Amino acid sequence: MFLGHYGAALALKRAEPKISLGTLFIATQLLDLLWGAFLLLGWEHVRFLPDSNPLLTLQFYDYPISHSLVGAIAWGLAAAALYYSWPTRDVTRHWQAAAMVGATVLSHWLLDLVVHVPDLPLAGNDSAKLGLGLWRHLGLSVAVELIVLALGIVVYVSWRSRRHPVRPVRLAVVVLILVATYAASILGPPPPSIPTIAAADIIFILALGLLAGWADRAATPAELAAGSRATR
Ligand SMILES: [Zn+2]
Repeated sequence: MFLGHYGAALALKRAEPKISLGTLFIATQLLDLLWGAFLLLGWEHVRFLPDSNPLLTLQFYDYPISHSLVGAIAWGLAAAALYYSWPTRDVTRHWQAAAMVGATVLSHWLLDLVVHVPDLPLAGNDSAKLGLGLWRHLGLSVAVELIVLALGIVVYVSWRSRRHPVRPVRLAVVVLILVATYAASILGPPPPSIPTIAAADIIFILALGLLAGWADRAATPAELAAGSRATR
């Protein structure tokens, strides 16, 4: 899954507003971020598989560290611990926020489960491999990705608050980049090599995280003051 992960992050932002959308964008794609790094390190492997369906042209035959269920739970716990111990002065609802970050990491595996063909291992490569295989249906996959992203946007926009406003132009930039990247991945030429895929994956996820943090900036004191004058 691709757009759906970001839809989940947008919705989860409103479940716990103190977490930056940038943090949630990285958390929701942490398993894919690690996958890119592990491919470059040679710890995990993927190969091209000719197929007329562009969603099925990569065979994920070896990625238990990043994409097993056990791995996803472990990475979720690690991300929650990292968030919890990150220096901050805002410690209200802190462990709940940390748990939300961990759940966001785990949500990646659950959404991947819907779309992947059975290649997601429970633990190691010899364990059972799961996947409901939505990717076999190109049109349906695109529809589900767009719907989950749209639902995330609706939640993000409707549950805004004065302290956590929506910045429409910035949000539009983020959404446009997401949709354009997804369209290019389906309609564009296949990537030239596995290292290119890994590097592009890492750069994209980190850049989108930074962009989401920029798009989701909490209201400044000046904006809050201006806002309260306007509502008065
Ligand atoms: Zn994934």
